[in-house]
This record gives sequence, structure tokens and C-alpha cells, in this order.
Amino acid sequence: MYIRAIGQIRTDAALGCLIRTSKSAPSAHIPAFALALENAGVSPQTRHPSIYFDAFRAYVVSRDESPHHMGPGYPYEVPLCPFCQSPAERLVTLDARSLEDYALEVDPTFFWYRCQCDNGEYILVKHVDGGLEGVMTAMTSP
Ligand SMILES: [Zn+2]
Repeated sequence: MYIRAIGQIRTDAALGCLIRTSKSAPSAHIPAFALALENAGVSPQTRHPSIYFDAFRAYVVSRDESPHHMGPGYPYEVPLCPFCQSPAERLVTLDARSLEDYALEVDPTFFWYRCQCDNGEYILVKHVDGGLEGVMTAMTSP
């Protein structure tokens, strides 16, 4: 419990404490230290950053303050869970024109399923004129 809590502090001092303490920790606790290190942003094996920092340069703002859209209101078909047929929900649609480092032709959209089915790592859809089309994935009706 304390190991995890130190990992959540995410300061250099906390990181140093984790690394120093892990050197004398019983072997049964080493996985907990490794997890805490990674949670603190450091790869346990290499000590390199465990996070791709460009991946989380975002924050949530009030609706209409950002060109990107989150949550409900996705106007097109969405994937259905292949097991329980629950519709996926939109997490975020990124406005491609606002992504300065990328040249995208479509606005990428990320979905998630609230159901507890094992949907694997990902489900594929492709952008078509005026919406999305499932790739071997059932979609909601338009
Ligand atoms: Zn499901």
C-alpha cells in the first residue's frame, strides 16, 4: 500500500525513494516496486520514461472551448459489442485540422464499451463518406 502511494506522488524524491528502497526489498515485493516505478513515469528495467509524453498533452475543458468533442452526441453509427450488442460510446473525436503535428484526412474518433465483455484490444472501423463503417464489426443503425 505504501509502495503504491509513493509511486503516485510522482516527484524525483519519491522516485529516488522507490529505487533506493527496492534494492533492499524482499523479492516478493519487487513486482509492487516495478509497478509503482512505472506508475511514477519510469520504466523499471531501463529507467527511461515509461510514458510517451506527447500522448497526454491534453486536458478537459468546458464544451465548445475546444475543437475536439468528447462524450455523447456522436452523429454517426457506432460499433456494437460483438457479444452483447451494446453500442460503443464516444470518448473523443479529435479535430484533425487542429492537430498541428499530424496531417490527417479524417477526424479520428475513439470509442469504448461500458459492458464487461471481452472485446479484445481493439475493434476496427473505417471512415467513409458521411460516417463510419465497421470492419467485420456490426454497427448501430443509421
Ligand atoms: Zn458487450
